[in-house]
Amino acid sequence: MRKLVVLMTLLLATAAVRGQLRICGSCGREDSAGGEFCTACQARLPDIPPPPAPADNAAEGQEPSPAATLAAGAFEQARLDVLAARGEESRRPEVALALYGNARALLAVIDPTNLPPATGQSVLEGLQRCRVALAVTGQACPACSGSGRRQVVFQQLAGGSAEATTRSTSAACATCGGRGTISGTRDVEAARLLILQGRREAGLLLQAAGRVAAGSAWIPKAWAQELMPRQLAAIRRIAAADCQACAGIGLERCKACAGTGRKPCTNRKCRDGWVEEKPGNTLTPQTALARRVKCPVCQGTGAVNCQPCRGKGAVACARCKGAGLAAPCRTCGGEGVSECRTCRTRRHAADDTSLCPKCRNSGWMLCERCKGDGVVAR
Ligand SMILES: [Zn+2]
Ligand SMILES: [Zn+2]
Ligand SMILES: [Zn+2]
Ligand SMILES: [Zn+2]
Ligand SMILES: [Zn+2]
Ligand SMILES: [Zn+2]
Ligand SMILES: [Zn+2]
Repeated sequence: MRKLVVLMTLLLATAAVRGQLRICGSCGREDSAGGEFCTACQARLPDIPPPPAPADNAAEGQEPSPAATLAAGAFEQARLDVLAARGEESRRPEVALALYGNARALLAVIDPTNLPPATGQSVLEGLQRCRVALAVTGQACPACSGSGRRQVVFQQLAGGSAEATTRSTSAACATCGGRGTISGTRDVEAARLLILQGRREAGLLLQAAGRVAAGSAWIPKAWAQELMPRQLAAIRRIAAADCQACAGIGLERCKACAGTGRKPCTNRKCRDGWVEEKPGNTLTPQTALARRVKCPVCQGTGAVNCQPCRGKGAVACARCKGAGLAAPCRTCGGEGVSECRTCRTRRHAADDTSLCPKCRNSGWMLCERCKGDGVVAR
């Protein structure tokens, strides 16, 4: 029963994502035929939102546009990744994190203007649950990116700007209680290694399911030939967005304290948390035993909080300055594509049907520096 509920939630979420495709409210099947009634159970289907009208392929008859076909395929593949992620989430959140991340990358192939604002909500929520599960002490709350407000981050993740939403009311983040930080227990280096391990294992799962690598993403084999460079770059960019140094955590182990968050007590008279109190009375013989009292600086513990990391054992990642994001490729400005070298100088004659191998006549080719990842290579 529980499994069914999860599946239904997923399908409904996918319906919101899907845009042109609909989920039958009666039987839960997906319907792409575009009719008024469900082909499986004949129930009336919800209204279709206005279909996308890409300028370069005008609608012809009832044929679904290539964009709609691709969108349907991307949603189906992303749905499979989400299902796999849900299966891993409780036991191996690091693997689930990578699978949700791949689903999000696959959805990026669809033009965002063709999608409703609720796009990918189930994917984003899954990502955040996994990030919380893998969180590190002192890390900015993964559920709200440290803002303490939940809605703002969802809008940001879905492609909206923070400025546009900060004026609207948003609920305090439930994960951190609005504080913006959470008290994870994991060491930052352990978390980083776990995230990398999760990526490797998710990669093996997806590879076994027939996917092929496109940068850090795992895509259906056919896409490697079918996708335009811009579409491929959209996927690769999402998959490669995390800072390579910190795996997106935004923190690195504090060198001053080797990650312990503690330093030996700064009181020079302190010996393992105790100080000897010299008797103030000069008449007392020098041989009198000095009184041992608890060191007031370290409260008798012999150690104090490390200053650079304020006791957290981790500091902002030096590479990404704590943002958790990789630096954009300077050649393409982070787009992952550049104008096709060949086609920029050569105008296609009207009857020239030859396909440019670099840009497939789209005018855009994968950036030669970053290969479409949109980030500085290591
Ligand atoms: Zn139905
Ligand atoms: Zn939060
Ligand atoms: Zn430290
Ligand atoms: Zn002390
Ligand atoms: Zn970093
Ligand atoms: Zn070209
Ligand atoms: Zn580039």
